[in-house]
Parts: sequence; C-alpha cells; structure tokens
Amino acid sequence: MMASATGDVETDGAVAGKLARGLRAAARAIVDYALPPRCPGCGVIVGEDRQFCLDCWSSLDFLDGPSCSRCSIPLPTALPGGPIACGACLASPPPFEGAPAAVAYGRVARTVALRLKYGRRTGHARLMARLMARQLAALGDADAILLVPVPLHRWRLWSRGFNQAALVVDELARLTGAARDHHLLLRVKATASLRGKARRERERIVTGAFALTPDAKARAAGRHVVLVDDVHASGATLRAAARTLRRSGASRVSALAWARVVPDALMTSNIFDFASLDSDMTGQEMTG
Ligand SMILES: [Zn+2]
Ligand SMILES: [Zn+2]
Repeated sequence: MMASATGDVETDGAVAGKLARGLRAAARAIVDYALPPRCPGCGVIVGEDRQFCLDCWSSLDFLDGPSCSRCSIPLPTALPGGPIACGACLASPPPFEGAPAAVAYGRVARTVALRLKYGRRTGHARLMARLMARQLAALGDADAILLVPVPLHRWRLWSRGFNQAALVVDELARLTGAARDHHLLLRVKATASLRGKARRERERIVTGAFALTPDAKARAAGRHVVLVDDVHASGATLRAAARTLRRSGASRVSALAWARVVPDALMTSNIFDFASLDSDMTGQEMTG
C-alpha cells in the first residue's frame, strides 16, 4: 500500500498501473519524436496521427449514397417511395437487415485493413471505427445494439494473436457507447479458403462454421446484434454468421464492415481485381 499526495491510499496494483501508463506515455513520446505521423494509406508524413494525406483521402469512396435496404449494396439511384431492395435480395433475402460499410474496397481501404491485420496497428482500428460510426448510428439506437466481431477460428487466433475485428469492435464501443460481446459467437469450423469459389460452393463451405453456447444464446435473446468485420467481400461468412445468430434468438442482425467489395467497381476498375485481393486475403478474410 502507498499513500498518494492527496492522502488517499492506493493499492500496489493501482500504483503499478499508473507507472506502466506513465512509461507507455513516455515511450510513445519518444516514438512520436523519432517517427513522425504517417498517412495510414500510403505512408507519407502528415501533420497529425491517424490522418490521411489529401491524395488518399480524396481517393476513398465513401458509401453514403442510395443503397439496398437489406444488404446495403450501393444502388445507382434512389427511387421515389422509400427504400428498395436490390435484385439479389428480392430473389433471396439475406439473414441480416442492413450491411453497410464505411468505404468501397480499394487501394487505400485495403492498405488500412492489411496494416491492422498483420501489423496490429490499433490506431488503424480507431481510424476505421471513426469512419464506421455514422453507419452504425444509422442501423439503430446504440443502447439497443450489441456489437459482435466476426470470430476467427482458434487456430487462426493463436497464429495471429488477435482478431482485427475485435479491435474495431472495442473502438466502436468506446466511440458510441454501444455494448459489445467478443465471445457471443464461436467459429467452430476451420473453413477452407473461399478464393475462386462459386457462390454455392462458398455457402457450402461456411455452413455450420458458427455456433453459440447455451449461455451465449441467453445473451443474444431479443438483441439487435451488429456483426463487425474489416472487409465485406462475397458476404458468405456474414450470412452464415447472421443465420446462426437469428436461429439462436437474436431479434435482429445487421452487419457492419470497414470496406466492401462493390461488384460494379469490380468490373470497371482493375484495383478491384479478385486475383490481387486473393494474394493478400486468405480464408476467412476473403469471405467477409
Ligand atoms: Zn496517403
Ligand atoms: Zn440487396
């Protein structure tokens, strides 16, 4: 036990915590001095930490135009008479209600996601969450939302050491006050890569990949669960996870991603080339 200057008694643990925080702040100051802030998209030196340079910022395609009421894929124009669903959702409604993303998947969005995934840049999670917060607010009242990261299978979690989606969930919860539950959903099947697979095959691979324990089912009951992932590619993983949550008692499921592969852009621009996507994104990442 140690008496502080104000006369309060602090535990050794609290003092150690303060010391550790002080040391971290000092280390941070040294690192900041040695390493000036860099653009998260291209690495050029910028004025402030976690700020894009003008080129990268202006190249980001923010997905805030008209979109499908079920899967949130961008639609060419808003039709009079309110929200409409895209052709795919009309033919086969997805198990989630709304799957927005902050930006379209492109060079800068991809770099930010990869740096978070392989470099554990928690600052990148904060940046992504900041740009995702508006879409989260549009999905519903923060008080009613339960944020859940798309889980990794334990083998992948062990090899990487962390789940990038969980880091984004933490930052979203901090920003918006929404509740979070890292362990609501379990990934019980190590799924094969979805790269190059046809839609039906992707769906088959992810079927049965997720589960909830009886205790988790009780926590999910009647909640609006928002599944969080870094990249929404084909959507097969999100659909499988959402179906499991709906069957387990969640009253509503939405999905929120940092970046979304937009099919139209896929056909018109070579930066949306699936081959280059596959070389960086494997297995679970490609499915998002
Ligand atoms: Zn840049
Ligand atoms: Zn749709």
